[in-house]
Amino acid sequence: MGLMNKLSSSMSNTAKSFSKVSNNMIEISKLNLSIKRREEEIREKFEEIGQYVYGRLKRMNMINRIELVELISEIHGLEEDISSLEKLILNLKGVNLCEACEIELDDEAKYCPLCGKRLKN
Ligand SMILES: [Zn+2]
Repeated sequence: MGLMNKLSSSMSNTAKSFSKVSNNMIEISKLNLSIKRREEEIREKFEEIGQYVYGRLKRMNMINRIELVELISEIHGLEEDISSLEKLILNLKGVNLCEACEIELDDEAKYCPLCGKRLKN
């Protein structure tokens, strides 16, 4: 391969890796947006819980647990979504996490420094 060909081939590889990085950036901002939406939804549900409990207490009535359980389980689902989205972001950023305790690890780490779990890499 001539020098010009080598040069243009390495240029296109650089361009490819740049476009991969910028695709990741787009993906990360989409995920961050999804997290923000869910956090907003959780705040709304907290408010709903607050209004419900307040209304009940104000009238000195019993609190209907079933209605609260539903809201709480919706919030729990949103929190789980957020934690999955956060993991996807760390993945796109190339951050290595311990599967057991989810702390950030060095790329070179063979064992988790916190829990001692052996890492598959
Ligand atoms: Zn660990």
